[in-house]
Amino acid sequence: MMISRLEKKPEWLRIRLPSGENYVKVRQTITSLGLHTVCEEARCPNIGECWGGGTATIMIMGDICTRGCRFCSVDGGRPLYLDPDEPERVAKALKKWALRYVVITSVCRDDLQDGGANHIAKTIKAVKVQCPETIIEPLIPDFHGNRHAIEKVAYAGPEVISHNIETVARLSPLIRDPRASYEQSLRVLEIIKEIDYKIYTKSSIMLGLGEMEEEVMLAAKDLRSAGVDIVSIGQYLQPTSRHLPVKEYITPEKFDSYRKSIEKMGFAYVVAGPFVRSSYKAGELFIKNMVYRRQQSSSSRSNPKQD
Ligand code: SF4
Repeated sequence: MMISRLEKKPEWLRIRLPSGENYVKVRQTITSLGLHTVCEEARCPNIGECWGGGTATIMIMGDICTRGCRFCSVDGGRPLYLDPDEPERVAKALKKWALRYVVITSVCRDDLQDGGANHIAKTIKAVKVQCPETIIEPLIPDFHGNRHAIEKVAYAGPEVISHNIETVARLSPLIRDPRASYEQSLRVLEIIKEIDYKIYTKSSIMLGLGEMEEEVMLAAKDLRSAGVDIVSIGQYLQPTSRHLPVKEYITPEKFDSYRKSIEKMGFAYVVAGPFVRSSYKAGELFIKNMVYRRQQSSSSRSNPKQD
């Protein structure tokens, strides 16, 4: 179903404004510690639900990106200096919230030699010290496909690593920054598995940018071939009139049909829906359970019961 830009958003995309005690608490900690969240920068429609449930995705390395993807509301330009104390401040915030699952994302820092890999790794390590029970999912940039940079992040010990292909192959050059590419992103996901196959990998696709159904299915197939475990598929929403317009609002029924078809490809988990975003409370709950199950089975193997 194609809907012109002049038509209103469909009913299923109307959302409530964020509110509630937890929302206020998370907002206050974020502000007092001088941190950023992708939830706000990317104007995420789930902010009320996630923050209301005491969850937020922390965005590190500043709020200015060196790239300029045409769908993204994060400001582009020359980023500020890298704050060496940020990893500790993030860990402190997360300890305060006592979260069991956290997503740490970042802007792209092409101005840094390692793309910020070392800073991301330091943040993961600091969180692991302060919050040893917390499952950590860094949502990483492509690092230009630099294996050494990806290794730094992987060796810091996250349970899950995400990297988004964002869209189907044909639309990638039209909507992403020219320094990003569909193939490069697939390669990043492959490299993570080559480094450590036990790390769960996750990737996201936005729909509503003019992609065809067979292109979506091909993208899912490519992700599976790259060893990806978890896929999330959501609706693209135009952040401002300066960004790419929405070409199509996908119905909840169509999302469900994509989910069912893509699940058959063998992913551990597929989540699809109008409000699904790469970091989303509902998906994280499932991943958390997968990680716990794996941790329990490996600890029972190393500590077999004595009869
Ligand atoms: S790389 Fe693209 S999607 Fe990611 S923060 Fe920068 S502009 Fe946004």
